[in-house]
Amino acid sequence: MANKSFQEIIDFLKNYDGEEVRIMEVCGTHTAAISENGIPSMLSPKISLISGPGCPVCVTVTAVIDKLVELSLRPDTTVLTFGDLIRVKGTNKSLADAKAEGANVRMVYSPMESITLAKEDPDHTYVFAAIGFETTTPVYAMVLKEAIEQDIKNLKLLTSLKTMPEVIRWVVNNGGGIDGFIAPGHVAAITGSDVFKELSDELGIPFVVSGFEGKQLLMTIYALVNMKGKKGIKNLYKDVVLPEGNLKAKEIVDRYFCPSDASWRGMGKIPGSGMMLRPEYSSFDAGSTSLDEDHMPPGCSCAKVLVGKVKPYECPLFGKSCTPDNAHGACMVSTEGSCYNYFVSGRR
Ligand code: SF4
Repeated sequence: MANKSFQEIIDFLKNYDGEEVRIMEVCGTHTAAISENGIPSMLSPKISLISGPGCPVCVTVTAVIDKLVELSLRPDTTVLTFGDLIRVKGTNKSLADAKAEGANVRMVYSPMESITLAKEDPDHTYVFAAIGFETTTPVYAMVLKEAIEQDIKNLKLLTSLKTMPEVIRWVVNNGGGIDGFIAPGHVAAITGSDVFKELSDELGIPFVVSGFEGKQLLMTIYALVNMKGKKGIKNLYKDVVLPEGNLKAKEIVDRYFCPSDASWRGMGKIPGSGMMLRPEYSSFDAGSTSLDEDHMPPGCSCAKVLVGKVKPYECPLFGKSCTPDNAHGACMVSTEGSCYNYFVSGRR
């Protein structure tokens, strides 16, 4: 790559006529950046980009939403959540539906707001909907640290935290047909790039760690096309991602959380793919442990979209009854969801 100009890389990707290459991005922010930059239209038809299970809202099973709805209906409890999750349907309703019926649901912009709220109203219980990947878990650990230091007992977490390596392994071992992965940049900033090197050695598939700018994503795709059939890792996001990751973030996560099995929409329970509160902090748990049921809306193909088995536009509801204004499935709700991004960018 060093001796190629950027124009030569663009020409290569547009005119590539070799074996078909299937590349998966496993980060919702990459999915959004790929659409925003119009990258699919810059690639030869022999290069396919497939969105993977990297949107935290999209992979959250309905049992978690149902539990949050149930908690929000208690008069002494308020559920705190980020924006997108509020609109995702559980088995019967979303948190937004529950809120419209009078349930206690409140959107926050930072988990740290939960500390202020809990302190102001010590007789009321606040439950934070703690969903996300390795990137977000350190923030929840900070909240917990703060709550313990300030002796706040009315703040709890309902955790549905997930980790990337196990789900990548699941996708490969379940017929994903993937030739290379765009490793998630934000996650890699915490875990370090060495995690993806180990995965590459194990799976025999190349990984390239990428940032989120269009130029860097094109260089990442170029690298992966040329690495097809070989294991190996390249880190094109070295300003942010170190081989060992963010040791301080990993230390605080390890203090409060431990690995657990986790349920993923479309994939079921994947051993070791989640994080739960350590037993000594169970008094901060709002009932997270046995949540694994998933009831997809009728006709919704999110489960297949999330593992790259179908493209969003292959879902019969896409752009017809399912749009961002009237989303049936989580993949159309979240701004990191594949269906949402395909719809707003007109991607085919
Ligand atoms: Fe589900 Fe809507 Fe996507 Fe179809 S278009 S898979 S219904 S979110």
